[in-house]
Amino acid sequence: MEWKIPSLEELEHYVWRCTACGTCRVAYDFGPPPFYAPICPAGEEFGFEGNMSSKGKIAFARGILDGTLSFEDPAFLEAIYKCTVCGGCQTQCQLDHKPFIPEIIEGMRRKAVEQGYGPLPPHKNLVQSLKSYDNPYQGPRRMRTDWMRPFKKAGRPIKDINKEPAETLFYVGCTGAFNKQAQGVPVATASIFQKLGIDFGCLGQNEVCCGSTAMRVGDAEAFKRVATQNLETFRKLKEEKGVKRIVTSCAGCYRAIKKDYALASDYEEIMDGLEVIHTADFLHRLWKEGKLTFKGELDMKVTYHDPCHTGRHLNKFRVDTEGEELWPGAYLDVSEEECLYDQPRELLKAIPGVELVEMARIRGNSYCCGGGGGVMTGFGDWAAKNAGLRIAEGMSTGAQHMVSICPFCHYNLNAGAKLIGSEMKLYDLTELLDQVL
Ligand code: SF4
Ligand code: SF4
Repeated sequence: MEWKIPSLEELEHYVWRCTACGTCRVAYDFGPPPFYAPICPAGEEFGFEGNMSSKGKIAFARGILDGTLSFEDPAFLEAIYKCTVCGGCQTQCQLDHKPFIPEIIEGMRRKAVEQGYGPLPPHKNLVQSLKSYDNPYQGPRRMRTDWMRPFKKAGRPIKDINKEPAETLFYVGCTGAFNKQAQGVPVATASIFQKLGIDFGCLGQNEVCCGSTAMRVGDAEAFKRVATQNLETFRKLKEEKGVKRIVTSCAGCYRAIKKDYALASDYEEIMDGLEVIHTADFLHRLWKEGKLTFKGELDMKVTYHDPCHTGRHLNKFRVDTEGEELWPGAYLDVSEEECLYDQPRELLKAIPGVELVEMARIRGNSYCCGGGGGVMTGFGDWAAKNAGLRIAEGMSTGAQHMVSICPFCHYNLNAGAKLIGSEMKLYDLTELLDQVL
């Protein structure tokens, strides 16, 4: 299988488009009421006018390409990893490199890895774990099914899709499977599916990491290995087990399968007849069709955090590649059609007793939890500190709880709540839905 992952050189045309205008410093919403607030976690922590924010990262790329900057300098290497690749800057920027800003940042990281300098030492452990155990958490394969135990005990075992056919593959993801604090997510997802009578199965110990973390820290080879294996598994499940749909409750896995995997030469052929859908979207569809109804009630005031990977990472940009409308490479416009902004909100509002109150920074202007792009592994203290800022924003709405649709955000926001001594409790949308079905 061939992969078309762009090199920094292939993105050079765009690297020179940044005017250092600083528009990417804040999120704007013209309201009403109008507001503007910081959008770049790296800028917040290290100073926007320094070299750590979005415009600084693009300047780094120029330096790498013209040979004035080298990864040999440990401080410089570290600087290119001080970014959550959240895409906040991308939403604000309106110049021609807008569609490629995260690619430029990841392109630098790929170059650092190719030259033998990157990723950072903690990321190297993560990539080594991926090689040894097929997950970034250094968890033995047999532990991948620990969350399934209560189902077996209750006489409702999860179907092993390696052996039995099923229409839906529930792709669990490593965070939900291995991270104790996030295990409630697969448990709630499977419980909902069972309650709704959905014919689904899991790969169990044979599930392999989606590769998102490797891709985000620039190890394209480690990513390609697991991604190729997964695509071959999906093909096999489609042909031999009648799988028509891959559902995942993890924002990172969803983004990887939907967007990163599309860089594979065989993607369209393999995915023909296979739908990839996030659980929130899947359940929203069932609710719209009248197949999901609420039996219970929850007396809760909640706010909703948009994960970057189910939000602006799914933006679809239109670029004037041939220069037919403006000039070659001109950015034309963006569609948010694939971003999962409305589905979780509509489901939350539909739960009897739940009141949803919004933070200021939402949807495309969402403030990253701070854990993505290898930051939680590389700079754990900063990740938690940034999550604390998001929790504080959530608390300012008067909500008691924060809901999201990503086990990774869930884990990091929990760390942030602990750090600032907040009582705010984190829930995955599935955990609330499971209580009222
Ligand atoms: S990335 Fe875009 S918004 Fe930010 S400084 Fe450069 S041109 Fe301006
Ligand atoms: S991707 Fe996010 S953290 Fe990185 S420079 Fe852009 S806004 Fe800042």
